[in-house]
Amino acid sequence: MTVLSVSEVSKTYGATRALRGVSLDLAPGEVLGLIGANGAGKSTLIKVLSGATRASSGSVRLAGRPFEPSGPLDAQAAGVQTVHQNIDDGVVPGMTVAENLTLDGFGRGGSGWFVTRGRIRERARPVAADAGLLADLDAPVESLSPSGRQRVVIARALSRAPKVLILDEPTSTLSAAEADALLPRVRELAGDGVAVLYVSHRLSEIEALCDRVVVLRDGRARRTFTAPVDRHAV
Ligand code: ADP
Ligand code: ADP
Repeated sequence: MTVLSVSEVSKTYGATRALRGVSLDLAPGEVLGLIGANGAGKSTLIKVLSGATRASSGSVRLAGRPFEPSGPLDAQAAGVQTVHQNIDDGVVPGMTVAENLTLDGFGRGGSGWFVTRGRIRERARPVAADAGLLADLDAPVESLSPSGRQRVVIARALSRAPKVLILDEPTSTLSAAEADALLPRVRELAGDGVAVLYVSHRLSEIEALCDRVVVLRDGRARRTFTAPVDRHAV
């Protein structure tokens, strides 16, 4: 079963061929690692999948349908949520954690904003509970640690019931202990059926977490398989 199917996707920037016919499939509940040296095309592939740019050629299907988002909000609405490397791209300073968790109206002409504070907390509560953020609902989002802010962004992404969750270098701003805490969380949400595309340059994480790994090099995908990992036997 495949939820996301990338087929022969190419992207050129002027004379630069950032992606050259990349194909990959992602199944529900699978964690697919994406690795590659600087310049290999990782950011470009994420941009295509998150709706930030369009492929020059090739196609993407999501749950069997053509996936051609007109922009990031369209990609999100279709079921692809992306948590960017720079977490602060995903939080709105000056707002509380509760408000950040319920940013439905964000970027859509503000239509979601005519709701009371109590209503926002009510909607944020179950999302916060899942992410261990209940105690922080009224805190300004910038008062949280990097991992706390990341939990906000990931929790909001999950609250939208994504088919595909893209995590771009999610541990790059975390301490070692925080990174260790994130990995089981990612397995857990894969266990709930979310397909995860996990981009990292940390091979130990990729090895511990991913079911399969795609290596990008010079804009091309080369698929490899990770060694069997104990968690499936436990
Ligand atoms: P990675 O994320 O793996 O480092 P990128 O997708 O950022 O790789 O880059 C792939 C190639 O495309 C590189 O040669 C990079 O310089 C080029 N590239 C990426 N974005 C742009 C852009 N907006 N304009 C021109 N070239 C770009
Ligand atoms: P990373 O690989 O860690 O995502 P990069 O430094 O490769 O970061 O790229 C950062 C951003 O700059 C990406 O969005 C990428 O698409 C863009 N970029 C990379 N190379 C170029 C380039 N030559 N011209 C314009 N934008 C680029």
